[in-house]
Amino acid sequence: MQDQHWGQTISADIVVIGGGTAGIGFAASLLKRDPHLNVTVIEPSAQHYYQPAWTLVGGGAHELKNTVRPMAAVMPRQAHWVQAAVSSVDPENRLLTLDDGRSVSYQNLIVCPGLRLAWEKIEGLQEALGQHGVTSNYSYRHAAYTWQLVKGLRGGKAIFTQPAVPIKCAGAPQKALYLSCDHWLRHGVLKHVDVEFNLAGAALFGVATFVAPLMKYIEKYRARLAFNSNLVKVDGPAQTAWFEVRDAAGTVTLQAKKFDLLHVVPPQVSPDFIRQSSLADAAGWCEVDVHSLQHVRYPDVFALGDVCSTSNAKTAAAVRKQIVVVAENVLALRKQQPLPLKYDGYGSCPLTVEKGKVILAEFGYAGKLLPTFPLEPTVARRSAWFLKATLLPWFYWNGMLKGREWLTRVSKVD
Ligand code: FAD
Repeated sequence: MQDQHWGQTISADIVVIGGGTAGIGFAASLLKRDPHLNVTVIEPSAQHYYQPAWTLVGGGAHELKNTVRPMAAVMPRQAHWVQAAVSSVDPENRLLTLDDGRSVSYQNLIVCPGLRLAWEKIEGLQEALGQHGVTSNYSYRHAAYTWQLVKGLRGGKAIFTQPAVPIKCAGAPQKALYLSCDHWLRHGVLKHVDVEFNLAGAALFGVATFVAPLMKYIEKYRARLAFNSNLVKVDGPAQTAWFEVRDAAGTVTLQAKKFDLLHVVPPQVSPDFIRQSSLADAAGWCEVDVHSLQHVRYPDVFALGDVCSTSNAKTAAAVRKQIVVVAENVLALRKQQPLPLKYDGYGSCPLTVEKGKVILAEFGYAGKLLPTFPLEPTVARRSAWFLKATLLPWFYWNGMLKGREWLTRVSKVD
């Protein structure tokens, strides 16, 4: 494979890195505006995943097989798919290199390779995952194991973890806890389970408005919160997890905790080829203007999705609006016109606080509440569960990935 392609150069007009939520959604939206554009999507994976439903899989409320489709089935027909991974970016020369030895030159680059789950940063985790009660809804391979463990637990200690932010869907670590506890409560098991939520940070949720309603559920489920407690090591066979715990004076101690169930959310980092490129900010993320999503140093480059340096919640909901902004802005740029649209930092986190009810947290930059519907946003609702569990998955496959821009109102530049 490598020899076959080695040294070839592909010339493309608009190149999209990544065929995930952002890459496919963007390519579809752009081609809907102009089907004659020359759009190349570089994506190594043969599968496309709807990750937001993995929380539901782990809670026994969605089938794993419905969260994946062949990449070929979601790739827009008019797009040219290059099935390879980008290994380096040279924005000075508008050139990419691929892992199969090819190069790609571009006029405009749209960066959306998502983020990398850094499982290896927790010692022993990769060996332990999927057995000994160690699981994660962040992995397609293990989300169903979460549900198997939850159903099987009759008592003991259940530990849920959350690493330092930024992470994708910052509410997902606690969604796993709520759905598990709800099942144990309904089956009379919760009184025998010692539930603990260990967070590397010091707050239950990043937007203060939602903390009080979420605390009610933490109390209802009698879960203990351990703030500033960061998972660093797991021994699967010994069912022991180690946490670095920081006290008020800043002193860090290592604490070992036994578990029967451990739901882990891994640390999350920018993909290596972005971190190592001149597209990156100091933290490794693709450095774009928070409103236009145009790169701050390379005007012909835009980014959207989890790879962005922007401070919005890293969610598919954010991508839904970013797609429109980047599609319009890149087309304006190509016509040498001013960029017309600005992104307000919208993101959404449907918090599955119990099976059948969701608190729909929708907010933008600086935690500004941006509810789509005229309803009190802090209330757990059945309608929001219906949205999360039924409408949004359908909308994802049939709307967002097909360039249908529903619920995507965005602001014009003043
Ligand atoms: P991805 O969808 O991850 O796609 C990135 C793509 O880039 C992948 O296909 C990958 O193969 C490709 N790629 C990687 N490296 C390279 C490379 N070198 N070259 C080329 N291609 C590359 N969002 C919500 O809105 N609501 C939710 O309730 C929600 N819950 C979530 C729960 C869980 C458990 C998880 C894991 C995520 C959840 N999300 C949720 C977040 C949402 O799935 C992501 O924010 C979204 O998928 C980001 O889209 P993306 O395109 O940036 O990244």
